Amino acid sequence: MSTASRVNPYHLFINTHTHAQLYDAKIEVVNLSLGSKERPNYYSYGLHPWYIDKDSLSYDLENLKVLAHEKRCLAIGECGLDKLSPVDFALQEEAFIEQIKLANKIQKPLIVHCVKAFNELINCLNLNNNKVPVIVHGFNNNENIARVLVNQGILFSFGKALLGYESNAAKAIKNVGRKNFFLETDDADISIKYIYKKASELLGIDEEIIKQQLQSNFENVFKLSLSK
Ligand SMILES: [Zn+2]
Repeated sequence: MSTASRVNPYHLFINTHTHAQLYDAKIEVVNLSLGSKERPNYYSYGLHPWYIDKDSLSYDLENLKVLAHEKRCLAIGECGLDKLSPVDFALQEEAFIEQIKLANKIQKPLIVHCVKAFNELINCLNLNNNKVPVIVHGFNNNENIARVLVNQGILFSFGKALLGYESNAAKAIKNVGRKNFFLETDDADISIKYIYKKASELLGIDEEIIKQQLQSNFENVFKLSLSK
C-alpha cells in the first residue's frame, strides 16, 4: 500500500493565529481584542505586550477572565513579553503572569508573542508552575533559541517568515519536530494554504501528511475533536 492511500484526503487547513476571519481555512483561531463585537467560530483573547495600559490593567484582566471562559475561546493570547514594546517591562511581566495563571485555571493554551525576552518568558512560565501548552507564535529566531524552547516543551507557530529564503523559521521547522508546530497567517495578507505548501516543500513531505499531523497537533493541544 502506498503512503498516499493510507492518508485521509480530507484533513483540514488550520490557521492557528490570525487577526481577522479570512474564511480561507476550516479552522481559524481569530485573535480578538477585548472590546470586539465579532464572534468568529473560534478565537482567542489576550492582553498583547504592546497594548498594556497601567491604569486599565486590573479592569482589562477582569474582563478577560470573563471572556476567556467562552467555549469558542480556545486560548489565551496573544500575550507575552517584548523588549521592543514601549510598555514598561515589569508591567508586561505582571500582565503576562496574570494570563499564565488564568490559562492554568481554565486549562486553555497560551498563544505567546515574544521578542528578545525568551529567558524571561521561560522564567515567568516556570516560576508560575505553568502546565498548559504554550505556543510561541510567529517564530523566526535562531536554532539555539529553538532548541531551548523545544527542551522546555514549548510549541511553535510558523507564518510568513517561512517564505523568506533560508530564514530562521525555515530552518527551525525542520528541527523542532512535527508534533511541535502549527501554521498561521498572523496579520499577513496571505493564504494559509500557501504557508502549508511552503512547509511541505521545506520538510520534503506530502502536504496531506502535514495537514494530518497539524490536525492531530491541534486536537491534542486545543482539546477539540475535528474528525467528522
Ligand atoms: Zn498576532
